Amino acid sequence: MATEQGLPFGEKYHPAIKKLMELRRESLENIEEFWDKRARALIWFKYWDKVLDDSNPPFFRWFVGGVTNITVNALDRWIETPVKNKVAYYWEGEPGDTRVLSYFELWREVNRFAKVLKDLGIKPDDRVVIYMPMIPELPIAMLAAARIGAIHSVVFSGFSPKALADRIVDAKAKLLITADGYYRRGKVINLKKNADEGVRLAEEQGVKVEKVLVVKRGGLDLDVNMVEGRDYWYDELVKNVPYNTYVPPEPRKSDDVLFILYSSGTTGKPKGIMHSVGGYMVWTYWSFKWTWDPRPDDVMWTAADIGWITGHTYIVYAPLMHGMTNVMYEGAPDYPQPDRVWEIVEKYRVTILYTSPTAIRLFRKYGDEWVKKHDLSSLRLLGSVGEPINPDVWKWYYEVVGGGKTPIVDTWWQTETGAAMIAPVPGIALVPLKPGSATFPLPGVDADVVNDKGEPTKPGEKGYLVIKRPWPGMLIGLWGDPQRYIRTYWQRFSKPDEGVWIYYPADYAVKDEDGYIWMLGRADEVLNVAGHRLGTTEIEDAILAHPAVAEAAVVGIPDPIKGEVPLAVVVLREGYKPSKELEEEIKQTVRKILSPIAVPKRVLFVNKLPKTRSGKIMRRLIKAVATGAPLGDVSTLEDEASVEEIKRAWEEFK
Ligand code: ATP
Ligand code: MG
Repeated sequence: MATEQGLPFGEKYHPAIKKLMELRRESLENIEEFWDKRARALIWFKYWDKVLDDSNPPFFRWFVGGVTNITVNALDRWIETPVKNKVAYYWEGEPGDTRVLSYFELWREVNRFAKVLKDLGIKPDDRVVIYMPMIPELPIAMLAAARIGAIHSVVFSGFSPKALADRIVDAKAKLLITADGYYRRGKVINLKKNADEGVRLAEEQGVKVEKVLVVKRGGLDLDVNMVEGRDYWYDELVKNVPYNTYVPPEPRKSDDVLFILYSSGTTGKPKGIMHSVGGYMVWTYWSFKWTWDPRPDDVMWTAADIGWITGHTYIVYAPLMHGMTNVMYEGAPDYPQPDRVWEIVEKYRVTILYTSPTAIRLFRKYGDEWVKKHDLSSLRLLGSVGEPINPDVWKWYYEVVGGGKTPIVDTWWQTETGAAMIAPVPGIALVPLKPGSATFPLPGVDADVVNDKGEPTKPGEKGYLVIKRPWPGMLIGLWGDPQRYIRTYWQRFSKPDEGVWIYYPADYAVKDEDGYIWMLGRADEVLNVAGHRLGTTEIEDAILAHPAVAEAAVVGIPDPIKGEVPLAVVVLREGYKPSKELEEEIKQTVRKILSPIAVPKRVLFVNKLPKTRSGKIMRRLIKAVATGAPLGDVSTLEDEASVEEIKRAWEEFK
């Protein structure tokens, strides 16, 4: 295999792979020329002096000297074109109420919202925390902040007042934008109450939010407490702002901060990730184009919350920069029935559905009949993000949801990377897919797998994913904590003395014979069983091959002989009951599929796995229970009862 720059490039490769590799080669051989050309697809007030400034690593800066405003590319550029009257958002509330916003209406409302923010005294670089449910005013508020050059930091509406307060304090927010409430699982949630408590807790820690702007969701009968002189109803302010209001987009330097977003907290205390105006804009535009191959008649539904990076990039910025029609849904995907998600796909004739393995496993758990009730023939691409997708879950998604004709676009990326980094790219060429592999790095992404010493691994040899060169969408730092930025991402494999800077995502991975990358789980969760390294994903994949299993989490627990042994925690599919026999069967499945050394010491059955509020399995909590260690930061834990259940199951086992 000829591997210049770690790229597989030989005769045996499929034409699509060759095409992709050709473009990747071009992108890596001359980074600056490649991105200089592509950044011009966007509108800038002033072009850059330097494409990549690497004079102060690892604080890489992109399109330095360039001036732009992302809202011009997301909105203004469409206003003089027929896209003006195209649907930007089909919004659906959980109870079934709907709103439709065209690009023109979105642009108009962003201008009006921006005027309100200016009148409240918000200036460029002020931090605006947005704690809102999935209603159209959420993207409107983000875009309005970006338009006037303020830095938004969106906090997922399901977070507790304490989590909100932590983020307000860390970001030193001047303004909080929130809403009266929203629907979740048929109940009305009083969000303003949580917001008030968050503001109070932040004040206790010395950060006083000056003003609170409250949007009415509409259709709620809520008793809302308003603090005189601090709280303002958005409705009351905006009604005096004329429809023809135009707020000029604030000229922003390319390396200014567009937003701060805190990571999911799967592995510990959330990090305040900063994205830049220019780099994020260019990267998300191109990554989106390559990954989703957008077409004028597409209807995209990224079924995630805007409180996560997936929502930022794939419900707001990137699809708007491509003039796409989006679906935005307020509620739970399985409410009032397990087929709500399929009903929405059918109703809006969604062409691209982008969701997470945790959601797909849930739908699979409910059974095929819920899917089959609906006409899903509009779908042309199915996406996955957030965790490794287990091959059996991949196949179910492909066959049952996609009817065996819709490619699965498994996208590996992080809050830190801005948009998809490793993924099939139908927008360039669709490579042959392998269930469970995110396939190849995108152009501009110099990803590789290395061993402990940082040397490239051989095919099949497990190691750590690294990214060996900067890319435009990279985070530009952690808010207020440059040392943590260096420590977390750059210390592990960089050699500063030699001028070598290597980004470390902290994920375990392997490349196969054909150069496909397979993600094996978190690097800090790797098991070492009798000298064999096992990624959590490998064992979980094997467990999920058993037809009774809906979800599985594996952690390593200490063992006097083997050093460590796997412990599995399993949720069963509808219609199955825990039993000693089933446990044995699951163990046998692992033995057969993977290896005898990977067989879990025990399989504990529970109703629910501990997860973050973004739906990711928090294995570290299972491990903490099993080893008696402290639980650590649990601010992003979805449901404390899940940890209690593990405790009970573990006590019984012990
Ligand atoms: P924290 O960094 O605070 O612990 P987090 O890593 O869960 O939280 P995110 O940025 O939301 O925060 O998630 C990125 C991580 O999710 C990746 O590093 C990887 O572990 C996992 N991931 C995302 N997409 C995929 C995918 N397609 N395949 C495998 N893993 C994925
Ligand atoms: Mg992370």
